[in-house]
Amino acid sequence: MNLTDKIVKLKQEKKAVILAHNYQRPEIQDIADYIGDSIELSRKAMQEKEAEIIVFCAVDFMAESAAILNPTKKVLLPTLGARCPMAQMLTDEEIKRAKTQHPNAPVVLYVNTLASAKAQCDVCCTSANAVEVINSFDAETILFGPDRNLAEYVAEKTGKTLIPIPEYGFCPTHLLFQPEDVTVLKLQHPNAVVMVHPECSSEMRRVADFVGSTSKMCRYASESKAKEFIVGTEEGILHRLRKENPDKKFYVAYGDAVCPNMKLTTLDRLYASLKEEKYVVKVPENTARKARKSLERMFQVKA
Ligand code: SF4
Repeated sequence: MNLTDKIVKLKQEKKAVILAHNYQRPEIQDIADYIGDSIELSRKAMQEKEAEIIVFCAVDFMAESAAILNPTKKVLLPTLGARCPMAQMLTDEEIKRAKTQHPNAPVVLYVNTLASAKAQCDVCCTSANAVEVINSFDAETILFGPDRNLAEYVAEKTGKTLIPIPEYGFCPTHLLFQPEDVTVLKLQHPNAVVMVHPECSSEMRRVADFVGSTSKMCRYASESKAKEFIVGTEEGILHRLRKENPDKKFYVAYGDAVCPNMKLTTLDRLYASLKEEKYVVKVPENTARKARKSLERMFQVKA
């Protein structure tokens, strides 16, 4: 029996469901029950009735969110070191300091934050619904973290003032994309449509035909009449895009745009995780209760 078959067998025996983020390795995406971005996977985790174990192939904050939303289920993160560096950039002290300086501003935090940060905000958002979440407030000035590029993009879209916390939080992987690379690719593929994630810089957004989350990129590529796409986000998404659109061509805007944390999950580690039921994600109840409210408020916003 090969490793894939062993994982499938173990998954059935243990009543486990495997969720994989769009940036995971192709073989992890192929074995997963569901693939998606953070909001799609959070919804799946909430709707999952049968499974007793959720194996979350992604990074720490996503598995934490699944544990917060599913307090009765065992949530496993296959690799302990799979941490999102952007989420680590926003400390509890930073949030407290910003709240003291802007006591009347609501706090909206990207889901790419640790549970203790989520517990301190009014509502969470993802890159797929950030514009709608910000528009759900009457306030014109809002504290927003930790991604400064996403804050800038949402401010452009909503006309509101978003104060970034921390001052410059960023995704190291999306920072790698540069407009010059798109220019070169456009010379080779003049008809290609450029899709870019809002975590990219404003310079990248300016050369894009479409700006959106990974779930929105997948929808856009499927519905578009275009046959070629230059993609400005982590390269793992190309596996899903190519599978869903076999008649279309996709080129990553920068070949080395790899999130090392997302790639820590391998089939071997997934197997070990299921077999030994490790690493169980636990969030202290008091923190989980407050963070759950922030996530639930996000789900109430129509996007
Ligand atoms: S791609 Fe960026 S935001 Fe996403 S997990 Fe990796 S470092 Fe974090």
